Amino acid sequence: MPRELDSLVQLQLALKEADTARRQLADLPDSMREVHEQHRTAVETMRRLEEQIESDEHERRIAEAAAGDASLKLGQYQDQINRVTTQREYGALLKEIDAVKAKVGGHEEEALAVIERIEGARRELEQVRGEFTSLDQRYREQLELWEQERPSVVSRLEDVERDISRLRALIPNHLLRQFELLFQRLDGDALSTVAKMQAVARGPVVWHCSVCNYRVRPQVIVEIKTNGALVQCERCHRFLRVEDQT
Ligand SMILES: [Zn+2]
Repeated sequence: MPRELDSLVQLQLALKEADTARRQLADLPDSMREVHEQHRTAVETMRRLEEQIESDEHERRIAEAAAGDASLKLGQYQDQINRVTTQREYGALLKEIDAVKAKVGGHEEEALAVIERIEGARRELEQVRGEFTSLDQRYREQLELWEQERPSVVSRLEDVERDISRLRALIPNHLLRQFELLFQRLDGDALSTVAKMQAVARGPVVWHCSVCNYRVRPQVIVEIKTNGALVQCERCHRFLRVEDQT
């Protein structure tokens, strides 16, 4: 394979490797993503449940206090029954008693519903906490492993960065600029391998860009193979490569 095209191929590989290493160092390695996500979700769930229980406890106290107040009022009304003198007063008092009884019942029901909700949340919290212990341990173990692995990723990145500088120096400036623009625009995929197609045995051979399928003229294949010509696909503009066995 010709030197410049060969250098581009190596440069693309090195740029991708450096990119992966930098992402790992800035964040977490892919192998840790799942356990990290589970850990984060569990921590969030526990916090949400704790907050819910706290606000429900507050609501329960309010409902119980309101039921208590209404009960007190009910007691006072019931004491007054012996003291009323007229039928009208008696009727009015009974009405008040009915209303306050309904209030007591309403607040007690509210408190009961909140208590049920609290119990449900406590059960859920207990379950998440139970599972969290082993998850947390696994997470810490993996973090520790990653801390041990990190220095080797750093030194590998340094090697790759040296390779990148070396390869850049081998490539003419205008070509390098063109390649790097393409590399950025096409998300790290500035090269395409030419694919060969033969519809029928001994039929005509047709070449095309393996990424966008655009036809590549046979003359271009010869130029790439023999002179190492740098040719871009006419449709997707990727630099075309021809595999040695093609
Ligand atoms: Zn193409």
